[in-house]
Amino acid sequence: NLSNKLDRAFKTLKGQGSITEINVAQTIKEVRRALVDADVNYKVAKTVTDKIKDEAMGRDVLIAVSPGQLMVKIVHEELTQLMGGEKQDIVLKGDPAVILIAGLQGSGKTTFTGKLANFLKKQNRNVLIAACDVYRPAAIDQVKVLAEQVGVEVYSETDNKNPVQIAQNAIEFAKRNNKKVVIIDTAGRLAVDEAMMREIAEIKNAIKPTETLFVVDSMTGQDAVNTAKTFNERINFDGVVLTKLDGDSRGGAALSIRAVVEKPIKFISTGEKMEALDLFYPDRMAQRILGMGDVISLVERAQQSFDEEEARRINQKIRKNQFNFDDFLSQLEQIKKMGDIKDLVSMIPGVGKAMKDVEIDENAFKPIEAIIKSMTKEERANPDIISGSRRNRIAKGSGTTIQQVNNLMKQFNDMRKMMKNMNKLTGKGGALSKMK
Ligand code: GDP
Ligand code: MG
Repeated sequence: NLSNKLDRAFKTLKGQGSITEINVAQTIKEVRRALVDADVNYKVAKTVTDKIKDEAMGRDVLIAVSPGQLMVKIVHEELTQLMGGEKQDIVLKGDPAVILIAGLQGSGKTTFTGKLANFLKKQNRNVLIAACDVYRPAAIDQVKVLAEQVGVEVYSETDNKNPVQIAQNAIEFAKRNNKKVVIIDTAGRLAVDEAMMREIAEIKNAIKPTETLFVVDSMTGQDAVNTAKTFNERINFDGVVLTKLDGDSRGGAALSIRAVVEKPIKFISTGEKMEALDLFYPDRMAQRILGMGDVISLVERAQQSFDEEEARRINQKIRKNQFNFDDFLSQLEQIKKMGDIKDLVSMIPGVGKAMKDVEIDENAFKPIEAIIKSMTKEERANPDIISGSRRNRIAKGSGTTIQQVNNLMKQFNDMRKMMKNMNKLTGKGGALSKMK
């Protein structure tokens, strides 16, 4: 990945005082190529790398940090800035706030509409979805199915083929029924065409939405940028939603679109499930483009799902070197709650790409669980008493082999050893005691 390449490019530089022009020129080439590989528009990649070059020149290299790492840091900072620096929230002013969803057919508008409704509902907002795709008979049904999943009401009119009217009626309906946010899902076509542009512009003029969000498929590369440009010229949208970032896309579209239309990206969509929606954080996307993996999202997702109380309890036990198989089992349960394991694995730096084509077996935990559940209460609480004959019994009871039981015991004991060592370091008088 890009960070490795940078590190390699700078290996020879180690020990020198600063980043010099010659070194930079070579690295810049690598960076530019990597950006283009990540779907960044060539012109944008050139602008970015020129800026990075200026920034990198003459920066002092700390002795402890390798120049390659410093370069990665500079590239990361520049990319973050270019994508807007800070995250930008959607605006929900007005009663009701009206959010208009625009984009090509298949870009993920309807899916995003459901996700956004879900997201806002979780903030205790009273949300209404207006189904304004009047061309495909199945469109309204699709909206209804998603809305039902997330528990949000839909406004639709079966006989009316005028999306402008439906949108207006939906807003009136929202006012009468105390809805605070109306999300208007619209029709798209397979390519940019005049009829679609006219329709979305008419809807926008008629309802004056609080926010107009342009939804675009990140997998479409350069087309994504051109589509964004055309839509923006016509309807001057307020923000961008980048979809299908769960696929192979490396997120380069985020950088290009931002650079070309100068509008903030507000959400990213990472799957077909209603929960697969994230706010757009420029620094994380910069990391993704750099190929470092979206570690922070991973941690956050884990935190959301972990039962905090339980986590605290287990932490206490780890601190006291009392971690046992009951705690281990409880942690497995927590990990399973985190949802689609493949989703999570794909976010781990380095691992993500390598695991892309590997089927991850969600049943991999099953034998481990079976083994632990075949232990007696006493054995789980005091793993040290699990002798050879007990292991035999456990293997039989759980339908596994003695090797599997031994492996688990070894892993478990290694884990405990590591925890003990950590405790020594972070405990009173330990080298890392300040980090606690
Ligand atoms: P629309 O025509 O713009 O309303 O697009 P839809 O919302 O109907 O989505 C088109 C297809 O893309 C559907 O099969 C969705 O399930 C799928 N889809 C939408 N968003 C995502 C996403 O973030 N990731 C993936 N993998 N699929 C998505
Ligand atoms: Mg749709």
